[in-house]
Amino acid sequence: MAMRKLADMTWEEARDQGRAGAIAILPVGAIEAHGPHLPLMTDVVIASAMAEAAAEELVNRDQQVVILPPICYTSAGFAAGFAGTITVSPATVTAMIGDIARSLARHGFPMLAIANAHLDPDHVAALHAAVETCGDEAIQVIFPDITKKPWALELTEEFQSGACHAGQYESSIVMAAAPSLVAEDRRCGLAPNPISLSAAIRAGQKTFEEAGGPAAYFGDPAAASREEGQGTIRVLGAILVEAIEQRSEHTDEA
Ligand SMILES: [Zn+2]
Repeated sequence: MAMRKLADMTWEEARDQGRAGAIAILPVGAIEAHGPHLPLMTDVVIASAMAEAAAEELVNRDQQVVILPPICYTSAGFAAGFAGTITVSPATVTAMIGDIARSLARHGFPMLAIANAHLDPDHVAALHAAVETCGDEAIQVIFPDITKKPWALELTEEFQSGACHAGQYESSIVMAAAPSLVAEDRRCGLAPNPISLSAAIRAGQKTFEEAGGPAAYFGDPAAASREEGQGTIRVLGAILVEAIEQRSEHTDEA
């Protein structure tokens, strides 16, 4: 059994996957400024790596899995002042996830698992809203929110500090998953910016500029390493698998 990309299949192959009860994994990122050294698609790269790590583990456990094409466009208000950032309304995001879930449900897929790497608060709220709107659907939508316990506690110190946008945490993951997309000469020369975005959000700030990130990064990009990134990708995959299994057990009991 191998993990499959839904978009590479014919419709007949997809039909068979739905009938077999394959879990659908949806990577969710953004097109958004990530410092002077990482690509706009950083969160898409991270979400895709998370999805693939989870899929690999699930396949090892004899679970059928299909990975959907990633969502790249979402709410990214914090980064909207930086060129290249695309931001759409949270309601659009909620509606799109719901429509994707219903399309899968129609053909028998029992579960849609969201591998999310974009942490803008409006976006995270839109995903929670999507899970809620799908509560009565035939498909279970699961979304482990890594900004919250217990999941956040499994991630790195920098991540937990909240100074984690294009810093050590995210730079390390992109170095591991898509090294050719990292501007290494820029990364190594960047001074740390230890301002916590989670604290800024709690204080009611709405943009990276207000929060104190004039170059669209928070954390310590120069401290990043490929090894850390590889480790974090494994943890992210394990978080998604754990969330899927918790929900499956819950269903078995019901
Ligand atoms: Zn990011």
